[in-house]
Amino acid sequence: MVDQNPFFEPSTLEYRLPPFAEIRDEHYEPAFEKGMSDQLAEIQAIVRKRDMPLFENTLVPLEQSGQLLERVANVFFNKSSADSSDFTNELEEKIAPQLAAHRDAILLDSQLYWRVTTIHDELEQNAELTEEQKYLVHRWYTEMTLAGAGLDDGQKEKLKEFNQKLSVLTTKFEKNLLSDTNELAVVIDDVEDLDGLEPGEISAAAQAASDRGLDEGKYLVTLVLPTGHPFLASLTDRGIRQRIMDASQARGAHGGEFDNNDVLLEIVRLRAERAALLGFPSHAAFVLADSTAKTPEAVAAMLGRLAPPAARNAKAEQAELNLLTEDELDDDDSTATASSESIKSWDWSFWTEKVRQEKYDVDTAALRPWFEAERVLQDGVFFAASQLYGITFTERKDLVGYHPDVRVFEVRNEDGSALGLYLLDLYTRDSKRGGAWMNPLISQAELLGHETSVVVNNLNVPKPATGEPTLLTFDETSTFFHEFGHALHGLFAHVTYPKLAGTNVFRDFVEFPSQVNEMWMLWPEVLANYAKHYQTGAQLDQGIVDRLHESEQFNEGFATSEYLGAALLDQAWHGLSADAAKKVTQVPSFEADALKAVGLDNPAVPPRYRSTYFAHVFSGGYDAGYYSYIWSEVLDADTVDWFKENGGLTRANGDRFRSRLLGVGGSKDPLEAYVDFRGRAAEIGPLLKRRGLE
Ligand SMILES: [Zn+2]
Repeated sequence: MVDQNPFFEPSTLEYRLPPFAEIRDEHYEPAFEKGMSDQLAEIQAIVRKRDMPLFENTLVPLEQSGQLLERVANVFFNKSSADSSDFTNELEEKIAPQLAAHRDAILLDSQLYWRVTTIHDELEQNAELTEEQKYLVHRWYTEMTLAGAGLDDGQKEKLKEFNQKLSVLTTKFEKNLLSDTNELAVVIDDVEDLDGLEPGEISAAAQAASDRGLDEGKYLVTLVLPTGHPFLASLTDRGIRQRIMDASQARGAHGGEFDNNDVLLEIVRLRAERAALLGFPSHAAFVLADSTAKTPEAVAAMLGRLAPPAARNAKAEQAELNLLTEDELDDDDSTATASSESIKSWDWSFWTEKVRQEKYDVDTAALRPWFEAERVLQDGVFFAASQLYGITFTERKDLVGYHPDVRVFEVRNEDGSALGLYLLDLYTRDSKRGGAWMNPLISQAELLGHETSVVVNNLNVPKPATGEPTLLTFDETSTFFHEFGHALHGLFAHVTYPKLAGTNVFRDFVEFPSQVNEMWMLWPEVLANYAKHYQTGAQLDQGIVDRLHESEQFNEGFATSEYLGAALLDQAWHGLSADAAKKVTQVPSFEADALKAVGLDNPAVPPRYRSTYFAHVFSGGYDAGYYSYIWSEVLDADTVDWFKENGGLTRANGDRFRSRLLGVGGSKDPLEAYVDFRGRAAEIGPLLKRRGLE
């Protein structure tokens, strides 16, 4: 049976679409095992060579290695996130540590590192290599160096010890957080206390209480990851709002078995020590060496520029809210004379929603009839891409996806040449994780004979009853445009080497193309083409569109401040040297000092995540990287300005963005690609303007 494993040979279907109809659960594990052993054999063949290391005899076979592993991993991890099962959960748990060890075995191979280093050291004298080839050498060299390939055997042992301890501690952080989040869920005894919530939210709270085994008539408000809970916008009882806010901020920080204070201090210390072993002054310096930003100083400069105006705007918003609330707040602040002291963190979003409706009269929930999913897709998302890039989309019902809900579209250039396949998996289901994302199944790479790409977009839109239309929310529509931006980045890839394909770019750059694509959602020609009432066909009223634009800066002082607070905490913890990290013993005072130093210590505007529940950076792979969202937004806002200055939705603009930026993928320094596209380096002004921070 082994020779019938559909992963063992490249797919023979059009565009190398994986043969989903033939793939069964029992095919994955043997394919992973053979994929890993094949690649190790391929690497061994490279390092056993006796001739001098050259690009052709080292980098080329290195880039060609691991194709079977890539095929099975792309299909498996797509399935485990979009259509998981007990089987995928168990296999993922089993295979993840094996894959990590496999990756280490390659990146830490001393002989391979010697060959890559030799080629890297002679790069400047080498006139024969193309820029892309040189960049590829540079990428491999950097990645292996940062993984620790240059350490001696004793140091490598120490490194593995750090990695091992850190993996235990980050898992512990995550498990503590999960347990404490459950434990601190707020129990409500009287339904009156939930005044302001929708009936559906109240019945869900009743269900949550009964699932937890609480008595009949009780309600349970479960906590969400960020500090602010969505219910704070609508709950009318101030005391209940405060209980929810206090519970949220207490996570991991109130003693007991799930306390994360010591766990995170130990993570910070070990990361700083590991960075020192690898020759870096701090963990942030180590992480940022492999990013667009390059150094902690560059990140600090940008965040430091944004923090004072954001804090100032939040203060102004606070004063405005206070005027509104003076008469209505409970008189528990009778001694407070300055009005800016009466609004508390648990009041903010409640009063903000009142102001939003009064001032802008925008009820985004009422827009859904204008955002029918098929129109959004065909006449909005696809339409904008056709106008910009001349590409066309044809649904291929004869091609089979990995789930009956998945639709397959063939994408072609204006001249009819093939670009690839776009798979759309729109609907939510129990087997799909939350959120929205894009992932490649086949990445374009000339070296492997992959002329075209196959990419998937996953969203989590609730499926309507049979016969009913799918009406998207405002946010879902925006997410659709965003994810399609990632899809275009993958489809337009035009590179030689697989390591540099499509979305294989730095973490602080990858969101930029998708953020830019969001701009077309409300672009007049695009909006007029798709936003039509699903029953009457009527256009969306221009007055509503205008108010949507006007409200864009509303509450941005708060939103920017809470984001920056978290981003700065991340940098503060990970900017510590090994010695400095040893001296920190108290999380709350360190946190307070760090926020005070940048003026973001307004108690009414707590950071989006406090350290003890900051999963992104203590267990989620965004350590020293939470700044990335706003870093890429600088490029995004600057690019949106460029499109506006140059006539907007035109083929010429699209072609320039495609050829100089999207198609380049990771094949050159992203900021060089940016300069090539924009004609100058990115400027921060457009972002300041967008967020009202000038
Ligand atoms: Zn994204």
